[in-house]
This record gives sequence, structure tokens and C-alpha cells, in this order.
Amino acid sequence: MAVERTLSIIKPDAVANKFIGEIYSRFAANDLRIVAARMVHLNKEQAEKFYAIHKNRPFFAMLIEYMISDPVMVTVLEGEDAIAKYRTLMGATMPEFAAPGSIRYDLARDGRANENAVHGSDASETAAEEIKFFFKSEEIFDLKR
Ligand code: AMP
Repeated sequence: MAVERTLSIIKPDAVANKFIGEIYSRFAANDLRIVAARMVHLNKEQAEKFYAIHKNRPFFAMLIEYMISDPVMVTVLEGEDAIAKYRTLMGATMPEFAAPGSIRYDLARDGRANENAVHGSDASETAAEEIKFFFKSEEIFDLKR
């Protein structure tokens, strides 16, 4: 297994519900180091660009409205097998299908149907693109210990 980096977004519902600390604790408990982080309130243009791949999907307008409704916390995670590990931690896209103990099961199941608390990159190419979308290389840190 290789050390990877992945992009996490703590979405507006989870930020508003004060779950940033809870989610960050799960990163630490799973050996995912935070190497960059920022709170940002996306505008429509940014959200549409980030989710451009979904622009023809029926849920696109609802997704954009949700993602710009409040600030989000963008974080770069680093660790062994970070991409797959974080996706397991998140659980299935739709909280009602997420495994018990996953972030979406624990923190998004009782919310609105389309609001699922977190985003995580799905592969190494998308992780690299998504990290670059939010962070310059000098904003990502190499932790020494
Ligand atoms: P993904 O790129 O897989 O994270 O998908 C983008 C986001 O779109 C998901 O995390 C959900 O917030 C939303 N989404 C995906 N599928 C649906 C759906 N069928 N209905 C509503 N929202 C969805």
C-alpha cells in the first residue's frame, strides 16, 4: 500500500450541525493526517466547476444549491491507502444505505435526503485534481513527525 493524499469536504449540513470536530477525530483515529485545511463558502460558479462531471444529472441543481448553502471545510488527508480508507469511513453516497458506524450513517441519516455530510475523492487522478482545485502546493504541508 502506498501513502496517498485525498480531498475531503465537510459539507454545509455537517458544518452547520457542528460535526467538524467529530469528523476530524475520525481522521486521527484512522491514521489520516491533515496536511492542509480551510473553510470556504463556495459560490455557484465554483460549485458548478467542482461538480462539472455531474452537470447533466437530474440532481445537479439540487446539489449546487446544497453545496453553496453554507460554508464547507476543505481538507487534504494523507496516509496509507488514504483514498479507499476515507471512502470506507464516509460510507455509501446515500446515507440510508451507508454502513453503521460510517460518517454518513452516524451524522447524515437524520438530515435531508440529498445531504450526505462529506465528500471524498474517488481515485488518485480525481484526488490530484480536486486537491489542486482548492490548494496551492505551498498550502499543503509535509509533516516532519
Ligand atoms: P459524488 O461525486 O459521487 O460525491 O456525487 C456528488 C454528490 O451528488 C453526492 O455526494 C451527493 O451529495 C449528490 N448526489 C449523488 N447522487 C445523487 C442522487 N441520486 N440524488 C441526489 N443527490 C445525489
